[in-house]
Amino acid sequence: MQIILFGAPGVGKGTQAKYLAEKFKINHISTGDILREAVKNQSALGLKVKEITSRGELVPDNIMAGLIKETLFSEKNKNGFILDGYPRTIDQAKLLEQILSELPNKNIYFIHLIADADVIVERLTNRRVCSVCGTIVNLNLISKKNECPNCKSADSFIKRKDDEESVIRHRLSVYENTTFQVLEFYRNKVNIIEVNGTDQIESVKENILAAIKN
Ligand SMILES: [Zn+2]
Repeated sequence: MQIILFGAPGVGKGTQAKYLAEKFKINHISTGDILREAVKNQSALGLKVKEITSRGELVPDNIMAGLIKETLFSEKNKNGFILDGYPRTIDQAKLLEQILSELPNKNIYFIHLIADADVIVERLTNRRVCSVCGTIVNLNLISKKNECPNCKSADSFIKRKDDEESVIRHRLSVYENTTFQVLEFYRNKVNIIEVNGTDQIESVKENILAAIKN
């Protein structure tokens, strides 16, 4: 089973990916992990990536696609995988389409966790980080709102710039605009499972499973 997972930042993609990976005994693959592993293994592509990223540049689509192909076809992913955070553009979607077409034992699901922007803003603006130990909390989910549940420091929470409402709304709209095009690209070709990602975590899980069974 192969899953291509789409979802806005803050929608809970990581949580669902982890759950699906355990449930179906497949690996959760993110582009960040692929890049880190390639650099660590010092493969030919990995060395190239190291050189590019050390100059502060973005890894070009063709190199990223090469790494993704290596990863998806590797022995440890032969039972399947969840690909998270890719493709983000139509060019990448076309490259991935080519890679997936060569995959043996295809059973591919495209899942889109739909985000309600207001819910995500509500979640993320209540996020705080402990300035003493770095623990991240949601103020709505802890009982003592001025005490870090990890290191017990008092009044140590700070709000990160990234968690300001205007920054979150901007990030969401950038995501929506680019992903909208990618989803349109797929819509004519495959069935996309659309689940509301901002429901309760348990119902999101159930809705995804039910859609996969159908
Ligand atoms: Zn702390």
